[in-house]
Amino acid sequence: MSRENTSSPNGKANLLADAADVGACLRTHRQFVMCAHEKPDGDVLGSGYALGIALKRMGKDVAYFLDDEVPKNLRFLPEWRFTQRTFDGVADDAIFIFFDMSDQSRAGKALQWVPRERIVNIDHHLGNTRFGRWNFVNEREAATGSLTLALILSLGAEVTPDIATCLLATLISDTGCFQYSNASPHTMRLGAALIEAGADKDSITEQLYYTRTFAGQKVLGLALEESQLTDDGICYSVVTQSMLESFGATHEDLEDVVGALRVVDTCEVAALFKETPDGAYRLSMRSRGRFNVMKIARSLGGGGHFRAAGATVPGPREAAIARVLAAIRVEMSEARAAR
Ligand code: 5GP
Ligand code: MN
Repeated sequence: MSRENTSSPNGKANLLADAADVGACLRTHRQFVMCAHEKPDGDVLGSGYALGIALKRMGKDVAYFLDDEVPKNLRFLPEWRFTQRTFDGVADDAIFIFFDMSDQSRAGKALQWVPRERIVNIDHHLGNTRFGRWNFVNEREAATGSLTLALILSLGAEVTPDIATCLLATLISDTGCFQYSNASPHTMRLGAALIEAGADKDSITEQLYYTRTFAGQKVLGLALEESQLTDDGICYSVVTQSMLESFGATHEDLEDVVGALRVVDTCEVAALFKETPDGAYRLSMRSRGRFNVMKIARSLGGGGHFRAAGATVPGPREAAIARVLAAIRVEMSEARAAR
């Protein structure tokens, strides 16, 4: 694969230059822990496994840490079986690589103790707090996987078919199978190069977009049936614990239910409220492109991207809905005023 593939879309910045610092860190240390955020997606796990394979091939010790289960639809990724929930045998000077997180709290309680001087932060979220000693952050990239690829190439490592599969999964996951607006010509070129390097595009697409549990399918149906549409273009729905229980479903089965809300013709902002066992709501938002849902999520203590963002809001249900609708309307009126 050619190194030119990783030059930025507008040619102004060269990712390989930015990668040099992190590359030096990876070369000089011996032991690494790849860290994923809770409720992991294809971008965070694919990035960690891809860099992990490359580092192992350089003779390094690599552990994959996740304070959560690997979702069933990502259990086709090479390396997933090596993911661990404890820190057995990690050296005192190990380096922790955080992928796809705007701030350290996204990694969950188990990783809050890790001090800045041992952290590498690789991410593409708006407003990343640069919480690492080494920060490799580019908000223009569609996925953390694009940055991971730049890093792997800067190390002079070969992009094996397994690495290519992990990295193509990051792009397919974060671009909605190359359909969202973040799928730039640059992103498409990276995808093509990864397929040429042996990535298994067909099984990634099948697993991520055409596979849903039957329980999840039923909950999707009910979430659509009970969805609400406001006059000002907010389409929202609530999935309660009792809905999940009645179908034997979990949050993992709700992948992209919010995307199904967003397709309504007059919908500008879609919001899905997923009740947690402790009575709070995990909020997922999607925008058609006029309003910045990351700003809304931030005002609620969360974060994300312009068109896809999330947060956790306390219950009870009616209070959560009222608070979120109000926050969405603040962004709608601010954005209209700015036009
Ligand atoms: P999803 O709706 O798919 O869970 O998340 C959409 C995007 O928002 C993802 O990029 C995810 O990282 C981000 N996101 C979701 N929830 C949170 C949150 O609670 N805090 C932050 N900072 N980002 C979030
Ligand atoms: Mn991502």
